[in-house]
Amino acid sequence: MPLLVMKFGGTSVANLDRIRRAAKRVGVEVAKGYDVIVIVSAMSGKTNELVGWVNETSPLYDAREYDAVVSSGENVTAGLMALTLQEMDVPARSWQGWQVPLKTTSAHSQARIEEIGTDNINAKFGEGMRVAVVAGFQGISPEGRITTLGRGGSDTTAVAFAAAFGAERCDIYTDVDGVYTTDPRICDKARKLDKIAFEEMLELASLGAKVLQTRSVELAMRYKVKLRVLSSFEEQSDEAGTLVCDEEEIMESNVVNGVAYSRDEAKLTCLSVADRPGIAATIFGCLSDAGVNVDMIVQNISEDGRTDMTFSCPTDQVKRAEVALNGFKEKGELNYAELVADTTVAKISVVGIGMRSQSGVAAKMFKVLSDEGINIKVITTSEIKISVLVDRKYMELAVQALHDAFDLDKAS
Ligand code: ADP
Ligand code: ASP
Ligand code: MG
Repeated sequence: MPLLVMKFGGTSVANLDRIRRAAKRVGVEVAKGYDVIVIVSAMSGKTNELVGWVNETSPLYDAREYDAVVSSGENVTAGLMALTLQEMDVPARSWQGWQVPLKTTSAHSQARIEEIGTDNINAKFGEGMRVAVVAGFQGISPEGRITTLGRGGSDTTAVAFAAAFGAERCDIYTDVDGVYTTDPRICDKARKLDKIAFEEMLELASLGAKVLQTRSVELAMRYKVKLRVLSSFEEQSDEAGTLVCDEEEIMESNVVNGVAYSRDEAKLTCLSVADRPGIAATIFGCLSDAGVNVDMIVQNISEDGRTDMTFSCPTDQVKRAEVALNGFKEKGELNYAELVADTTVAKISVVGIGMRSQSGVAAKMFKVLSDEGINIKVITTSEIKISVLVDRKYMELAVQALHDAFDLDKAS
């Protein structure tokens, strides 16, 4: 039988009524003749609550226990969704990651999927099961411990299942009706895109547009999964939502196609470190060993053989970074005058494939921010994006001003 993957995010399974509505949508596809793999997130707010409990109990937690706790939200929804489907006379059962099995690396809290066993689920489809409800976001490590795939990881579970089972389509049901030029919650003029290229979606996701987890887009691109984002709150036609597809399938495109932001950024500076070969390797080796995800890096001009090294990382990793660097300093492996953390910054990025062939985007971006009186603290660029760090209080203003300046409310 043809197979679909349908993923429901947190707000789409926020309570029993929403679970019933999601189940009805699944029932419609089953009635059309599809077998369905449903991937569910935890009820909205649940994962944040679980993460909060872990942090309160143990700020520098053992990531294996973090995963044991935060993976549990999805188990509840998977069971409830299977029960709801059974009440509708749809043969369904729930699956936790280890039961599938969905095998991952041992990188707890940010594990990567290595393999999805298809035999168990296919055997049950063979016995008449019509819907496999799989707990998203979780898997099992080679050591037999529960792992999680990083925040937003159920999207990745969904795409990986679509690839492993050769699904006709992977539909990601969420609380917005597609991918927009920027987050519609902070910019009224955000415009829904009918299609977006994999590469642009990949950049937007990795720069903070949480509508899809970055890794899910990578997998969809690699395994040619037909990936669609649509709303679970509205009636849907077959053309609804946004299709994430190859660049060639999109006829028209602006130079800049999206603005992304990331609120939870922090900027740390090691003041006055010795400017000698190996210093960057020492600092960033130390941070990497501590599991800190460094994003932007800037090294100042050196003066009297000393320099300042600035980097950014997520705010919830600042403590980890401070403990690791101070530990190196105490051991005499690193020498800096002071470690300064600024936890009130945000990253704003403009993204567009058209930047490959058109210059002047950076100059325009900086001018727009300067006209709004917004100071830029750090800049990075790549082929199809430009990112800046600014004071968090200017985040929404910066997004809206850039959206206006690049005419993103108008289709090309
Ligand atoms: P789910 O719980 O369904 O996984 P998420 O909260 O993870 O949903 O992702 C959906 C949210 O992503 C939207 O509510 C929206 O605020 C946000 N978002 C950020 N950038 C964009 C964008 N460019 N297009 C659409 N939504 C976006
Ligand atoms: N529940 C997890 C989270 O909130 C995974 C997901 O929803 O995708 O990050
Ligand atoms: Mg999500």
